[in-house]
Amino acid sequence: MTTPNPTTRPTPPHRPIRVLVLGAGYAGALAANRLRRDPRVEVTVVNPQPFFVQRIRLHQWVARTADPQVGFDHVLASDIRVVVDTATRIDAARRRVDMASGAALDYDHLIYAVGTGAATPMIPGAAEHGFGVADWVAAQQLRDHLETLDRHEPVTVIGGGLTGVELAAELAERGFGVRLVGGGAVAGSVGPRARRALLVQLGRLGVEVLESGRVVDVTSTTVTVADGGQRRELPSATTVLTTGFEAPPLAEDSGLTTDELGRLCADVTLTSVDDPRIVGAGDAVSIDGMTLRMSCQAAQPLGAQAADAVLAHLDGVAAAEVDQAFVAQCTSVGRRAATLQFTRRDDSPARMVVTGRLAALAKETVCRGTVWNIHRESKTPGAFRWLRGGTRPSAGRPSSASATVVR
Ligand SMILES: Cc1cc2nc3c(=O)[nH]c(=O)nc-3n(C[C@H](O)[C@H](O)[C@H](O)COP(=O)(O)OP(=O)(O)OC[C@H]3O[C@@H](n4cnc5c(N)ncnc54)[C@H](O)[C@@H]3O)c2cc1C
Repeated sequence: MTTPNPTTRPTPPHRPIRVLVLGAGYAGALAANRLRRDPRVEVTVVNPQPFFVQRIRLHQWVARTADPQVGFDHVLASDIRVVVDTATRIDAARRRVDMASGAALDYDHLIYAVGTGAATPMIPGAAEHGFGVADWVAAQQLRDHLETLDRHEPVTVIGGGLTGVELAAELAERGFGVRLVGGGAVAGSVGPRARRALLVQLGRLGVEVLESGRVVDVTSTTVTVADGGQRRELPSATTVLTTGFEAPPLAEDSGLTTDELGRLCADVTLTSVDDPRIVGAGDAVSIDGMTLRMSCQAAQPLGAQAADAVLAHLDGVAAAEVDQAFVAQCTSVGRRAATLQFTRRDDSPARMVVTGRLAALAKETVCRGTVWNIHRESKTPGAFRWLRGGTRPSAGRPSSASATVVR
């Protein structure tokens, strides 16, 4: 006796195939539009905010230099149903998703694209007194809090990754007194020339960089920084953690296999290792044997490939292995400067670096381009193209959280 393949079981012709996309960020929005290549598919998107959030502009939202909200009518095709809600549990056996509102949605196939938020703070006092910038709610809280402060009150940014650099610079340019505590390295993912440029640019904006310092305690008005065996308590009216991203607990709460960062574990075709009807995309997926920097640069091609994987499942053909490459790491340093580190396809730094106003222009073009990509896909499903030939997954090699690269 043969067992029917659950991914190819025929669907009655009178009923559309319901694809539910959880999360309308860079990956989810792109995937939702692309799914429309197949006229049999009916797409529903679930997202907590009633608009698309340009997450790569959240530091600008906090500093009031840009608005990251984009109407869904601009980025999603008009026949996509949008449900403003938060998924709380995926019942894979029943193909049903429970929502925070108490409603439930049934699906035939599901794309898991819920992104990430700030990593759980491990520093004493940080959970109570620290702020974040990694997601819409956290950025909103930080923005409101900063509004209650005088500009001269000190701000500490913990974490020397590119997000920390961008936030520190954006706030300094707006007149805040900013200290960036690097925890060992500032901008460690770029090459030495780009790193030097970033440090010079931060210096010009007056950011105090404590590169090797580690914050070991946070209160509502201070941070304690340990450096070379010494500890100093420093005033800090606002302390922001940019120490990495982790995924929401939805997959884990739903009994699906996740990695150490809570990301849905998927095979090389982005298909969940637990259920062929669930496909992951963007920051929230951990691909077997493949390390991709959590980034909008990776999320959009992953969204496209997730949609293609679902369509392949519908046709009963093998989904393609993930194939995408990186181009650059572009870091804004306020509105008038940036550093553009070109990379090899595996995201390692190449020789070419562009700095200053030209790089700032490039960064702004990238930010606009990400929204344009999704808009275009809403008008012409399948139009999105991406660079291929990066690090290829090698099936069977376990993905390692220690190798995870977080922006
Ligand atoms: C300040 C900042 C600057 C950055 N700059 C850059 C940059 O310059 N370049 C770059 O490549 N990357 C950058 N990043 C990283 C980039 O923003 C992320 O990697 C990218 O947004 C991931 O895309 P995504 O679609 O996977 O997730 P997201 O864009 O986070 O979208 C996920 C969506 O899912 C929703 N969601 C969450 N939980 C649920 C749920 N339970 N049910 C339904 N919906 C849910 C969220 O609200 C969100 O709308 C930056 C990040 C930050 C915070």
